Amino acid sequence: MNCPFCGNNESKVIDSREVNDGIRRRRQCLNCSSRFTTYERLQPASLFVIKKDRRREEFNKDKLLAGIRKACEKRPLPTGTIDKLADDIEAELDSQGKAEIPSTIIGDMVMERLKSLDYIAYIRFASVYRDFADITALKREIDTLVSDETDEIFPPTSQLPLIPAEDLEIKAKAHRRTRR
Ligand SMILES: [Zn+2]
Repeated sequence: MNCPFCGNNESKVIDSREVNDGIRRRRQCLNCSSRFTTYERLQPASLFVIKKDRRREEFNKDKLLAGIRKACEKRPLPTGTIDKLADDIEAELDSQGKAEIPSTIIGDMVMERLKSLDYIAYIRFASVYRDFADITALKREIDTLVSDETDEIFPPTSQLPLIPAEDLEIKAKAHRRTRR
């Protein structure tokens, strides 16, 4: 630590106290006797994301949020849902305490959560993030989703368009038959 007045790099600590998030030290330069203050704080460990092209990039929560927001655009999600989702993911990454993580793992974490929140947001996110080669792959993914769901409760009406047309037709026919 160089003295801000003369540049000398030797100083003595004349006072030291704990402050909220670290230690504050009052120092005196051994050369010019000027006094100055230094703070010592814990630096949170950085998390690096390994991208598909192998480049490494520091984890950026804003970027994660932007990606989720885009997928959830105009979807009927309660206020705060998206922020909470990003917070959850950040907390989980923190708790893992890793120095680096593949972007695919983070993407999977987002998808896993979106899947139970909103189908359309999930599909939108998946289509960007998974680089679906063509629309067939996307359709297959939707079909998987729909068949996962058929044994459970019927999806809300706002999500009906995700059911393939032929399924709707079969249901309509069944309905007509029961009415006769
Ligand atoms: Zn000095």
